[in-house]
Amino acid sequence: MEEIFPGHPRAESLRIRKRIAEAMEMGIVVPEGLTAHGRGEAFDYLIGEKTTEVAKRAIEASAAALLMASHPVISVNGNAAALVPSELVELSKICGAKLEVNLFHRSFRRELLIAEHLKKHGGGEILGVGEENAVRLPEIQSERRKADRRGIYKADVILVPLEDGDRTEALKRMGKFVIAIDLNPLSRTARAADITIVDNIVRAVPLMVEILKEMKSKPTDVLRKMVKSFDNEANLAESLKFMSRRLLELAGETPNYLSGGTKG
Ligand code: ATP
Ligand code: MG
Repeated sequence: MEEIFPGHPRAESLRIRKRIAEAMEMGIVVPEGLTAHGRGEAFDYLIGEKTTEVAKRAIEASAAALLMASHPVISVNGNAAALVPSELVELSKICGAKLEVNLFHRSFRRELLIAEHLKKHGGGEILGVGEENAVRLPEIQSERRKADRRGIYKADVILVPLEDGDRTEALKRMGKFVIAIDLNPLSRTARAADITIVDNIVRAVPLMVEILKEMKSKPTDVLRKMVKSFDNEANLAESLKFMSRRLLELAGETPNYLSGGTKG
């Protein structure tokens, strides 16, 4: 592969692309994963490729929800495994969440490859591989409805870094508390989740680890309040306004109704 020059203005973005492309060669990522990544990149461009204060608030609420959960599970697809394997393992350890391979384009080979990849990055038990503990979610058609009876099936809180809208909606109908990481505030996943973190997983997951470390000692009633007071619709609206404001500023305009700084 071609070398990426450190001074290149898009060096970090190119490094991430390279990681995804290499993971595709390994069989972890499918070609559709590359296009999904591209859609994410476009929205990352709009927020300026930095974690916004709005996203940080969603990460804090997510950390509180994970700490309060009885059976937290982190769902891992190909792109997430390619981009943040060791960070996801660390996150799972710090909040006692199980890791479950959960694929849109499912094959046993990919399940195995992703589980091995996570283990290579420090992961212990990885759920969602093979048929032994598989259950089919009643809410979804086709092979996308597989879940592990020890994981997503019985989870109360599920973190889905990059998920499809159909499945997020199905998890919601099953009464799960869903935390999504999705750069697109307009996606069905972003709209259906209880908490949506509009940020790139390469930044959001490490930051969540740091925030979890700080929050671990907080009393339960404080954590509960943080979760209860979080309003996902309002937070998504703030992300959209952030993007709008940024675009207008880049276009040389600052209309009155947007010039009042960040609200809420
Ligand atoms: P939905 O099914 O929820 O309506 P979609 O069909 O547009 O959304 P999918 O392909 O199902 O999208 O899911 C991929 C989602 O992940 C996209 O919304 C994309 O913006 C987002 N995404 C891709 N890469 C990243 C990343 N690195 N960090 C955060 N989000 C990302
Ligand atoms: Mg989709």
